[in-house]
Amino acid sequence: MIRSQRSCILVLAVLIGLGLAAAVEAQEFAVGPVKARRGNTESGYLPVPEKDGLSTLIPVTVIRGSNPGKVLALVAGTHGAEYPPIHALYRLRDRIDPFRLSGTLILVHIANLPSFQKRTVYFNPFDFKNLNRVFPGDPNGTLSQRMAHVLTEEVVGKCDALIDMHCGDANEALIPYTYWMLGETKTMDDQTREMALAFGIPHIIIDTGRTKDIRDSKYLGNTAILRGKPAITTEAGYLGRSDEADILKNLYGAESVMRLFKMIDGTPVTAKDPVWIDKYEVVNSRFDGLFYPRVKMGAMVGEGEIVGAVRDYLGNLKEEMKAPFAGLILYIIGTPPANAGEPLYEVGRIKK
Ligand SMILES: [Zn+2]
Repeated sequence: MIRSQRSCILVLAVLIGLGLAAAVEAQEFAVGPVKARRGNTESGYLPVPEKDGLSTLIPVTVIRGSNPGKVLALVAGTHGAEYPPIHALYRLRDRIDPFRLSGTLILVHIANLPSFQKRTVYFNPFDFKNLNRVFPGDPNGTLSQRMAHVLTEEVVGKCDALIDMHCGDANEALIPYTYWMLGETKTMDDQTREMALAFGIPHIIIDTGRTKDIRDSKYLGNTAILRGKPAITTEAGYLGRSDEADILKNLYGAESVMRLFKMIDGTPVTAKDPVWIDKYEVVNSRFDGLFYPRVKMGAMVGEGEIVGAVRDYLGNLKEEMKAPFAGLILYIIGTPPANAGEPLYEVGRIKK
């Protein structure tokens, strides 16, 4: 073999190698270091870079279906003491056969591991920020801001649609409901409405109040919508419990949205008689002290009806809290601490 022939073969081999690598690359879906090829499920950790001695990991699973289709991100544990969605996503991973899946699932098992580990309500124990108020995050910010940035880049950035799965935090007695965030475009509103109905929870809040500032989008679901990715925020579960019924609401809701997107076989089971809530208000405490609820989650209250009372640490009555309008108690704090500026309950008005 003459020398030029040999180098020709060498070049050809390199080209074939590069081509094969590119083909594998095209088949592969990566969320940070977690990479799955078609027909595979891979779990691993998404690192949040260290700063000031603080870093964390975000446990994720990528299920890359054998067939092409949408990329759906399901996020649990944005608040670390909200357990039913967390349970639901581990179960979902075990139920989904990648060979029968069209598209890709990104499962964020516990978005806020510091809060989960330290069992904190609302806040990250290291910077006392609420992860679901600091999106899209900041790579040079505090731990929560860096976590939000990683989630924005690796999860929001790589999905076609997203469900941010919450429930009542460890202090919140809450009935299941879904936030349908709308107001971007008609097409987006139609898509998110379909997702909200497909998730299957009958109470749906028509939520037009989210910020439209992409640099200060605050909420994970809103961050996705402002980047053109249809998203809903769901709430099912309460008071730090892991009730089977709530785990199943989360699991079946997610699967129903997957059916809507034709990622798995079957038709979505949509909410039969949706109850639309066209106005809602979160009532915050004005005082530090103890909260004494007078009504239960899911109660109907009249305008001005007393919903609960706040007493100071010496037991003195500070305020009796009233319903701002007639409606449904979507959630109410179910443990004693009341802190100035923090929620006590949420009232929703049912659309006539
Ligand atoms: Zn939450």
